[in-house]
Amino acid sequence: MPTLLIKNATVLVTMDNRQREIPAGGLFVRDGFIEQVGPTDELPSTADEVLDLTGHLLLPGLVNTHHHFYQTLTRAVPAAQDVNLFNWLKTLYPIWARLTPEDIFISTQTALVELALSGCTTASDHLYLFPNGSRLDDEIEAAKEIGLRVQASRGSMSLGESKGGLPPDSVVDSEENILRDSQRLIETYHDPQPGAFVQIVLAPCSPFSVTGELMKQSAALARQYGVHLHTHLAETEDEEQFCLQKFGYRPVGYMQSVDWVGEDVWFAHAVYVNNDEVKTFARHSCGVAHCPSSNMRLASGIAPIKEYLAAGVKVGLGVDGSASNDGSHMLAEARQAMLLARLKEGTIGFSLSNDPTRKLMTARDALRLATRGGAAVLGRSDIGSLEVGKCADFFAINLNRIDYAGALHDPVAAAVFCQPVKADYTIVGGKFVVREGRLVTADEQKLVEKHNKSAKRLLEG
Ligand SMILES: [Zn+2]
Repeated sequence: MPTLLIKNATVLVTMDNRQREIPAGGLFVRDGFIEQVGPTDELPSTADEVLDLTGHLLLPGLVNTHHHFYQTLTRAVPAAQDVNLFNWLKTLYPIWARLTPEDIFISTQTALVELALSGCTTASDHLYLFPNGSRLDDEIEAAKEIGLRVQASRGSMSLGESKGGLPPDSVVDSEENILRDSQRLIETYHDPQPGAFVQIVLAPCSPFSVTGELMKQSAALARQYGVHLHTHLAETEDEEQFCLQKFGYRPVGYMQSVDWVGEDVWFAHAVYVNNDEVKTFARHSCGVAHCPSSNMRLASGIAPIKEYLAAGVKVGLGVDGSASNDGSHMLAEARQAMLLARLKEGTIGFSLSNDPTRKLMTARDALRLATRGGAAVLGRSDIGSLEVGKCADFFAINLNRIDYAGALHDPVAAAVFCQPVKADYTIVGGKFVVREGRLVTADEQKLVEKHNKSAKRLLEG
């Protein structure tokens, strides 16, 4: 049982229920789990490995609740740069139809490396196209090499253009195949234990790409095995119109009609949700993956995060797929969440208000969404905070850098207010993924070369 001692962090942010921030803090880790957390002078003085974090900020690993790793191959595609969601999708579907198993493998590694370098230690991914023999297995194998935890979502599309859906028929699959493969993946890979590195999630893509029948059957299958459910919901006004016309419900009502509410369900985006629907989410303990960069990039809208939090809805952050962000920087996403929440306050008159009870989202609120919030959304009580018994998942930032010069009176706030930086150390389950700012589990430069080759091939067709 290997042990790891982390000591002398300038500030250790626990994200525990008391919101403790410990000066000169440290952790004692055994076999991948936290055994002690506190001031360094109260911890054991040695271990199999010791890391001195003098001059560093230490934070719980960030939890990404929504992504499409494969989209790292199609960032900044010219024809998809300046369009809304539906046109963006229609431009990209034919390119994505050329994906191969190797592309899935490479892009998974690229996305996870980028996430690890931004302080992320657990990522959900939503893979919903399986062209040319691609499988979710390709992603899971790739993730094992990098060393982050993944909630691998078996996505699906079954409603092609000929049946009134948005995607071309060439990228949709039969519902029989989808359900059979979903069951195979759960039985092969899903680990329900604390400390799991792979969990399977069932994730029909969106109201405009699957049938209500597949939604119902996916929910039944997921509940039979105790795995979670995820989909895109209420992302744009287009989608709301689609749901009203095709199903006779607004998106949230449609979810209720197909048995998609419950503590095992989380939705990406959830922008077009009214006050009654916010209450519906709260009553059924549904979670929300807030993706501020993507919502800005595609001009989708601003999600009602303040209302969700006031109603007790679980909210986490997601970078979303890299074709609509176009990056996988979790710390940057926390910053965007804080800034966008403030912009929304501005649009309803914050600057004119002298009401002291009207509060802006703080840097610590944003970090909480990116850690505890994300863990709750994914249904994982073993991650999201630095507490005894939890996974030893954390990252550290060297405070002695130009980006934070002049902000060291509050290093925790600096991590969100100042320009997003890269992690100097990222540790998952007690193992180093990033050390002294460099990836240690793969050759980053070789990966970039392979990735660019794949991206070029995809674009050129
Ligand atoms: Zn998405």
